[in-house]
Order: sequence, then structure tokens, then C-alpha cells
Amino acid sequence: MPSADRSTGKKVAVIGAGTVGSSCAWHLQKHGYQVVLLDPVDPGQSTSFGNAACISPSHITPFSYPGVVKQIPGWLMDPLGPLRIRWQHLPGLLPWLWRFWRSGTDAGVAWSSQAQARLMREVHADWDEILEATGQSHMRRHKGVIVVFDQRAEFEAAAWQYRIKDELGFEWQHLAPSEVKIMAPALELGNGMALYYPDWQHVLDPGEVTAGIARDCMARGGQWLQDRVLKVEANEQQVNLQTESGQQLTADSLVVAAGSWSNRICGQLDYTVPLAAKRGYHSMIGSPGIDLEYPVMSMTRSFVMTPLQNGLRVAGTAELARLDAEPDYRRAKVLLRHAQHYFPGLQSEQVSEWMGQRPMMADSVPVISCSPTRRNVFYAFGHGHYGLTQGPTTGKAITRLISGEEPSVDIRDYRFERFRS
Ligand SMILES: Cc1cc2nc3c(=O)[nH]c(=O)nc-3n(C[C@H](O)[C@H](O)[C@H](O)COP(=O)(O)OP(=O)(O)OC[C@H]3O[C@@H](n4cnc5c(N)ncnc54)[C@H](O)[C@@H]3O)c2cc1C
Repeated sequence: MPSADRSTGKKVAVIGAGTVGSSCAWHLQKHGYQVVLLDPVDPGQSTSFGNAACISPSHITPFSYPGVVKQIPGWLMDPLGPLRIRWQHLPGLLPWLWRFWRSGTDAGVAWSSQAQARLMREVHADWDEILEATGQSHMRRHKGVIVVFDQRAEFEAAAWQYRIKDELGFEWQHLAPSEVKIMAPALELGNGMALYYPDWQHVLDPGEVTAGIARDCMARGGQWLQDRVLKVEANEQQVNLQTESGQQLTADSLVVAAGSWSNRICGQLDYTVPLAAKRGYHSMIGSPGIDLEYPVMSMTRSFVMTPLQNGLRVAGTAELARLDAEPDYRRAKVLLRHAQHYFPGLQSEQVSEWMGQRPMMADSVPVISCSPTRRNVFYAFGHGHYGLTQGPTTGKAITRLISGEEPSVDIRDYRFERFRS
């Protein structure tokens, strides 16, 4: 168990116990703060529970880029396609979609990729530290990922992404069909092609790993409060919280790490920012009947198959809907069909389905920032597709911000107020 770096004794409330909030709480406690972590659900049981479990540093390019708008109608018209919009919720989504479209310029892509790359360069070391200190190193595999395209033309259309990876120093390789056969004998590529990203890692259960981080924080004196924060006020001296069960809490500082729900708190303290819940689904297959050692990601069909400790997880797809809309589990069933396309021998018995809401900023870059108006309020949300990957790095950066130290990553690009300019 690590000892506190120094004892500040100040109290910090952290709203949200996903991978991001739990990592913030862990780093703060380690730094000598008195932490209270609040969430209505157990740590790691929301979006951080059911993701594809990949630590994916080389994924640095944004989701909005020149020409994306032309691709969207085709995706939407395909019932098995990677994107769906609940049309009845479109009016509420329009401001975010507008910002998303506006960010997809050449300059926007370059800025966003560099901002992501800066965080991504830190993630391995930060995961090493937190897994080792919480006794969970056995929960990680260093396998890389096999990346497949159904047609070579799709890879060629995505060449700009590979140019950016090359420029920013993220490794990728072509795989010959004979290499694919050795690495994943059950994988059928048809007319497709495969790449390999060696820097990817995966954990065997992202929900459990997150819960382990929160447990370790509590074992060293952190406080856990299973409750939803309803009201927040902050003045120069302190932060006051009121919870759903009627509790009143005060703290010296506040970290808002409430994932897709963060705007509900930001709106009370500053203003809301372009954050959408980009839903994803998984089908978890208890007995897949195939051996798979490496995660496999389909770029064509936008999903990942990851071997976990309790079976094979098939996770991905994107759906834009209101935060409180009912899940549509047909999306999880579609993922199974896609997986069977690549693995015809895949069995689909003992399947459980899940939906989670990726906290997605319109410019694909997270918010890791102090509040523009209050020196004791800090924001850590909007990690989109990479909240597992970037959780520990965010926790470390936020802790340095709160303690007045220089974060190891230059965090200017992640500031909250960037949407006002
Ligand atoms: C299908 C899918 C696959 C993915 N695959 C990957 C992957 O392979 N690698 C990767 O890095 N990322 C992946 N992601 C993204 C990743 O899961 C998210 O970015 C990450 O879980 C976000 O973590 P978080 O802590 O910000 O949010 P969450 O895990 O959603 O946690 C936020 C918490 O805040 C709590 N909360 C909300 N409001 C309040 C309140 N008022 N009071 C108290 N608590 C509150 C919620 O209950 C919740 O528990 C995937 C996501 C999906 C959906």
C-alpha cells in the first residue's frame, strides 16, 4: 500500500465513481487529502462497467473530421450500421451535433489529435502505477490489438489517420494473412485485411478493476457515500453538497467526474458544455466456443471483441439519444451478428447484454480543468471512448491541479472554457 506523498488534510468531494472519479479519488487520497467519493451506484458499475476493456493509446484522431457528414446518412440507413440516432430526441441533440460538425476541420483534427496524443503518452506508466499499488497487475494483459477492415479500400480511405499516428509516434503494422492465422486461427478475414497496434493492453474486467481502485482508496481512509448529489454550491471557502437522501456535506474542494451526467452539476456552478451521451452496447458471451488471445477491433463495423476473465465481450456501436431513454438491446444483438461474421464458429449461448453512455465532448477531447470561476471546483469528464484508458492519467493531473503543482501533461487543451471562445 503506498504511503501518502504529503498530508494536506483538506477535504475533497469527488462526484462519480467510474474509472475517472475513482482514479481521482485514489490519487487525491494518496496525496494526503481527505476524500469522500459519492455515487448512487457502486464504484465501476456505470459506463466503466461494460466497456471493451482496452487501454488504447494509439487511438488519437477525433470522431469529427472533414467529410464525416457525407458518411453519416449511409451509416444511418444500414440497420446493422455503426450509428443510430433516436430521431424524436434530435432537437435536444442539435447543438451538440452542430459543435461536432464545426470541430471537424483540418485544423480541428490536428489540434484534437495532438491533445489526445499528449494524454495517451502517459497512460501506460499511470496504469502501471495504479495497478501495482492496488494489487491488480494480474488483471492486465499486454497483447496489442488486431485491427480488421472488410475491404482494403476502407483502410485506404482512413490513410489520414495512419499518417497522424506516424507523425505523432504511435506504432502500427500490417499483418500478413499467415500472421493473422497464427495469432487468431478462428478469425476469417474474407477479402479484408488486418493491422496490429502493439501498444494496446486490456484488462480482464474493467468494472472490477475500477472497484478495486476505489476499494484501495477506502482502505487508506477515503470515505464512500452511496448517494446522488442533487445540489451544489461553492464559495471561496468551501463547497456545499446536498444529496438525494437529504444529507448535507461540506468540503474544501470538489471534483466533478460524473461522466455523461456532469452537465447537471456544471450548470449549477458554471454553465453547460457540449457533452453528449454516446451510447454503446455489449454482448458478453460466457462460453464463446472459440479461442481468442488478442482483442480484435473491426474498423468497418466499429466494435471490439475482447477476451475477458468471464468470457468474450463484444462491445461497440454508437447511438445518440437522450440520457434517460430506454436501452434498445437490438444494438447488442447486432454486435453478435457482426462477431459471427468474423468468427463463424462463435457460439452465442449464455449471453448477457448491456448498455453504457460514453461521455462524449463535441471535439472528442476530455475536460480536465479547474472551473473558470471557482478556484476550488475541478472538472474531469468527457473522455468519450477512452475513459478507461485515460482514467489514471486524469486522476493524477487533477490531483496536481488541486495541490497547485504543475501536472506532468500540459493540460491547457483540456480546459473547460474552451467552448466559450
Ligand atoms: C461499448 C463501449 C465500449 C467502450 N470501450 C472502451 C475501451 O475499450 N477503452 C476505453 O478507454 N474506454 C472505452 N469506453 C469508454 C469508457 O467506458 C468511458 O469513457 C468511461 O467509462 C467513462 O468513465 P467515467 O468515470 O467518466 O464515467 P462513468 O463510468 O459513467 O461514471 C460516472 C459516474 O457518475 C455517477 N454520477 C452521475 N451523476 C451523479 C450525481 N449527481 N451524484 C453522484 N454520482 C453521479 C454515475 O452514477 C456514474 O457511476 C467504452 C464505452 C462503451 C459504452
